[in-house]
Amino acid sequence: MMLVRSSHRRSTVGRQLAILGGEPAFKEPVHVGRPNVPDPEGFLNSISDILERRWFTNQGPVVRKFEDRLTAFLGVKHVIAICNGTIALELAERALELSGEVIVPSFTFVATAHSLQWQGIRPVFCDIDPHSHCLDPAKVEQQITERTTAILAVHLWGRPCQVEELEEIASRRGLHLLFDAAHGFGCTYRGRMIGNSGDAEIFSFHATKFFNTFEGGAIATNDDELAQRLRLMKNFGFSGMDRVDHVGTNGKMSEVSAAMGLAGLDSLADFVSSNRINYMAYRRHLAELNGITMLQYDESERCNYQYIVIEVDERDAGLTRDQLLAALRAENVLARRYFWPGCHCMEPYRTLYPEAARALPVTEHVASRVIVLPTGSAVGVEDVEIICGIIRRALEHPGAVAEAVGDAPYGV
Ligand SMILES: *Cc1c(COP(=O)(O)O)cnc(C)c1O
Repeated sequence: MMLVRSSHRRSTVGRQLAILGGEPAFKEPVHVGRPNVPDPEGFLNSISDILERRWFTNQGPVVRKFEDRLTAFLGVKHVIAICNGTIALELAERALELSGEVIVPSFTFVATAHSLQWQGIRPVFCDIDPHSHCLDPAKVEQQITERTTAILAVHLWGRPCQVEELEEIASRRGLHLLFDAAHGFGCTYRGRMIGNSGDAEIFSFHATKFFNTFEGGAIATNDDELAQRLRLMKNFGFSGMDRVDHVGTNGKMSEVSAAMGLAGLDSLADFVSSNRINYMAYRRHLAELNGITMLQYDESERCNYQYIVIEVDERDAGLTRDQLLAALRAENVLARRYFWPGCHCMEPYRTLYPEAARALPVTEHVASRVIVLPTGSAVGVEDVEIICGIIRRALEHPGAVAEAVGDAPYGV
């Protein structure tokens, strides 16, 4: 497999931090979410076949094969390949005829909320558990009203949310249950692949995700009737050559994307392995640092280790999250604040639901502390060591770093 390493790194031994006037540790930016690249040979052969066949989209043979492989991999009855994760969410919500209000976390990528708002459904933001960063079932219960039609939960960072508790609430209160599994591809919940719970689970295969088809997504469901409806809806409602049974849209995946997906499935074990090696290296190097807590994956489950998430406790670290971020960015380490400041602080939600923040103390707390660090097959353990060295040095000189950052921490 082809590993694209960030080559231009410098030794950090005895080096001055860049934020304090030293040379940056990396000449080239080190990004979060650089795409994982599969073995190109299979992919390129498949592209030649697609060109020769002149069958580029509309449920062609490559998409069908990709769906079959996904169905077997996830151990689910139906997988429908879709052009991206956002349209996949919208299609699932629409096929279930959701309306009124749907309970969602605010601590997620904004597409989770947008997929509802876009079709006139109100996202009701619910608080999360401080440790899992996923929906807190007890708080979900408090947000249910007579207008609620569903819960849309997110397996954040690829760590499964409290599926059984949510299933119990949904069935007792007569609600639909969807999972945004955009981060959860290749992960298990109690030994079973994510993709088997609720009415349906939605994956994103965007370039920055663990497993990508350039752009792409999928809906996994064990509901035959729902699968049938989704297949019609993602193809303008066509049920035959000249016959339309539904209002529909264009949610189709192209043959080229499916070819990338098939190649990616063949390289999946390599992606997991390079992520896991980085994850272990980060754990080792960050373990002793005061004020830094790294999110752990449950080793008894299958995980994709795609997100290296740390929380900065300002009191113990001596630095705020944003000051540490500024120190990293000065070194060309383009770490990110995910999912800051939370969907409820973004428009249109901020204006429409100004009172939402009152129900979201944990979301606001977590969102102010999280940094996501670079990993993936483009990042090596040597890079990880340097990145952790920068964090360690910044924590050793909190006063100087804070002064150098001044009143304009990163991005503010
Ligand atoms: C990426 C992502 C989406 C959107 O998927 P796209 O394929 O980019 O449309 C939705 N939800 C979450 C949690 C995501 O991370």
